Amino acid sequence: MSEGAAKKERPRSFQAIRGVRDLLPDQTSLWNFVERIAHETFATFGFGEIRLPLFERTDLFARSIGEDTDVVSKEMYTFLDPPAWLEILEKLGTVKDVDRTATTFTIKNHLPNENFIAEVLSLRPEATASACRAYIEHNMQQLPQPVKLYYMGPMFRRERPQKGRYRQFYQIGAEVLGGSDAPAIDAEVIEMVMTFFDRLGLEGVQLHINSIGDKNCRPKYVELLREELQKVKDKLGPDSRRRIDTNPLRVLDSKLESEQETIEKLPRITQHLCDSCRDNYDEVKRQLAIRGINYSQNFRLVRGLDYYMRTTFEITAKGLGSQNAVCGGGRYDGLLELLGGPPTKGIGFAIGEDRLILSLQESGKAPAQQGRDVYIAWMGERAQATAIRAAKDLRKAGFSVELPPVEQKFGKALGQADKLGAKYALILGDNEVSEGLWTLKMLADGSQAKFTEPDLLEHLRKQKALSS
Ligand code: AMP
Repeated sequence: MSEGAAKKERPRSFQAIRGVRDLLPDQTSLWNFVERIAHETFATFGFGEIRLPLFERTDLFARSIGEDTDVVSKEMYTFLDPPAWLEILEKLGTVKDVDRTATTFTIKNHLPNENFIAEVLSLRPEATASACRAYIEHNMQQLPQPVKLYYMGPMFRRERPQKGRYRQFYQIGAEVLGGSDAPAIDAEVIEMVMTFFDRLGLEGVQLHINSIGDKNCRPKYVELLREELQKVKDKLGPDSRRRIDTNPLRVLDSKLESEQETIEKLPRITQHLCDSCRDNYDEVKRQLAIRGINYSQNFRLVRGLDYYMRTTFEITAKGLGSQNAVCGGGRYDGLLELLGGPPTKGIGFAIGEDRLILSLQESGKAPAQQGRDVYIAWMGERAQATAIRAAKDLRKAGFSVELPPVEQKFGKALGQADKLGAKYALILGDNEVSEGLWTLKMLADGSQAKFTEPDLLEHLRKQKALSS
């Protein structure tokens, strides 16, 4: 047998799938920082955290986000519970017939005299629908209104991956459900996001706002827009042409260079708001001004999801290229009714955490990764027992400790301590243990001193207090 054939071939290794990534410890320190500031900031505005499931029935998203949206029609990860794609493909020959709004999926004669019933579920593409479902399911309308909720976690959309756009991405969002629709609520929600961004030191933050009217004035405007779009149809690309019928507002969202001039000349919703929507929009702007929040008005901000009305907003930040929206939000009175709940006012936002982090990193805001505080270099059986006890006490006092599992020569141990970025090496050999005097080496300057056990802990505590 040749040498090559005798060598066992290594199995192919795995990689994370396209659009999905690992966040490694040198990145997660910034993620944890961002999330801690979110918890702290939102709590100061009276919001409580809600943890929502990662998957729901597909029709919850279809009904709330809208069947004609890209998110529902193309981007959701949908599966059957119990998962049975193969059987279904076998029976149907194709998946084209899947009804995305169906609650269950029946395949006749799967087994003799038995129907196969599976629920159609999807990984959540966003969390507002789930928060509204939870509000209804847990009778939160009986709590003092409004109910102020926030969430954070992964969302899933099968979009084309690029910088700032992933298939598993993370959102930090909040919803105010119930109570009134006073413009001060809209303004305070925006104030909360801006406060959060300010505390993070996010740079180049710009708030864009718009009002997209309500069910009285929007349909008339949409018709007018449709008529105007028909007149300039030839100047539009295929996507926008299709949207003239399906969702003309989305044409305003288009980033296609060749369409920009035409879009700028289209009628603007702000000139077609009914009196109450115009008053409402004016008051939202006044409330923002009282809070010292700068904004620019953007008539093209219609948001991709169907359920918005009146106030919509988007926040952009620096360093993100074309995907520069870090936050999108708006009012969605009526969504809860659509989901079978009582008439309930609602407003919320979702921050794209991946993009927020990218922007912070681009402006050099990444906190240095925390190295170890103490590396314990020990030699000898007695020393190991002492080292284990020392590690326990130091960790209890809040220090990060590295305790090598096997004995190392002191030279090697000190090299390892250096590589790990430890501040101190605690040297425990036979002499130290029998004398009860431990050697502490400052790795930055190589100086060292001997301490009794209690003095050592006290010394480290003092040093930590001085440096924080
Ligand atoms: P939306 O839920 O579509 O209103 O999005 C709210 C925010 O989530 C956006 O402003 C983005 O910051 C972020 N976001 C949406 N889709 C993605 C994605 N595929 N990858 C990364 N961030 C996203």
